[in-house]
Amino acid sequence: MSIRNQSNSHTYSCEYCNGPRTKEGVNGSFCSEECHDKHRGENLLTYLENDHRLCANCGSKLKVVEPPTQAQLVKIQGYHSTKSLEDGGGYQYKTPLADAEELPTVCGSCGNCTLSKPFPEAQSIFLRECARGILASLREKRREGTHDKTIDDETFFEYLETPDDIPLALGRAIDG
Ligand SMILES: [Zn+2]
Ligand SMILES: [Zn+2]
Repeated sequence: MSIRNQSNSHTYSCEYCNGPRTKEGVNGSFCSEECHDKHRGENLLTYLENDHRLCANCGSKLKVVEPPTQAQLVKIQGYHSTKSLEDGGGYQYKTPLADAEELPTVCGSCGNCTLSKPFPEAQSIFLRECARGILASLREKRREGTHDKTIDDETFFEYLETPDDIPLALGRAIDG
């Protein structure tokens, strides 16, 4: 929130679009319901963008990370290591959804090669597929304890195509 003091009147700007808003705003900080909802939706999507196992464009899981086996640990650390499996970090494996040939990893489902970024133009071509993948990954992130938001599928798909805007539909469908 930014407040500028112009002589004796205050102006307030929207936390999402930076445009003017009323003092009360929508939910305290936004100029409109739309800005509020997009902000919420985009916040939730950053959990996918920050997870290197996932494609942020379509939600596909491209890598799994598993702890090293005892045999692998011995190979890395020698026979006298006292390190436990839990300390050993993880090994990454590509899933069948990743393009096996490409390095760095390319999404085999939607072709995205910058996995940490969604491409709305590409998403709009496979909108429902991308939306379903994103919902599934957000559910998994919830099970992993990354966030505590639940999403109402019916509301999400109801808003999804008017306009083609995944963050907006998501923000509208977050329960609570
Ligand atoms: Zn706004
Ligand atoms: Zn993808």
